[in-house]
Amino acid sequence: MFEQINPLIQQTPESLEARDSKLREKIGRAQERALDVDIDADLVQRYADMCEAEFLPVPPKDFDMAELKNLEARVLEATARVDTIVDFQLLLEQIDGLDPAQRADMVEHENAHANVAQQKGETTAFLGYGMVFFKQGDRIVSMQPITLTDRIGSVDMVRFLSDKIEVLRAPSVYGHKMSEDDERESANIEKVLAQYRRTDE
Ligand SMILES: [Zn+2]
Repeated sequence: MFEQINPLIQQTPESLEARDSKLREKIGRAQERALDVDIDADLVQRYADMCEAEFLPVPPKDFDMAELKNLEARVLEATARVDTIVDFQLLLEQIDGLDPAQRADMVEHENAHANVAQQKGETTAFLGYGMVFFKQGDRIVSMQPITLTDRIGSVDMVRFLSDKIEVLRAPSVYGHKMSEDDERESANIEKVLAQYRRTDE
């Protein structure tokens, strides 16, 4: 289920220190640009709504891809991002306020999403792991681990959305629990899929 962790034997303390300090820089940059739970609340809601609207057979009149890309860029600024599950584990170790049990839980959960995303390579691009930071004033108040994926080019929407539901439900398949966001998002995508199926009839 996990990637093999590289033996640390050839790594010097200096290279480990350099690696960790790079990860801390990533975290620092993301925390500086963290989403403010008061100021950015509308932005976060708008982003979530647009991510779902993107997949509708007929997007709402006010749907604008450029706006979605801007919102996504803003969310990514607040995100410390890495490519592999090993780096994700190391990233979590550098974040203040997470205990070992929370880190293990997050690694297992996101790894389940990523495993299924990588099995769905024909429809889904796997783009790594991240931690999104939220602040209130100057204080980091919460964080949200994520697995980053995207739809591959012009792949059939029904196939892509069916696969996306499997990616969202992956933690439960791997004996883990789904998050509330996973539950809500997969229920919403089921509704979107039903619209395509009605259109097909
Ligand atoms: Zn999840």
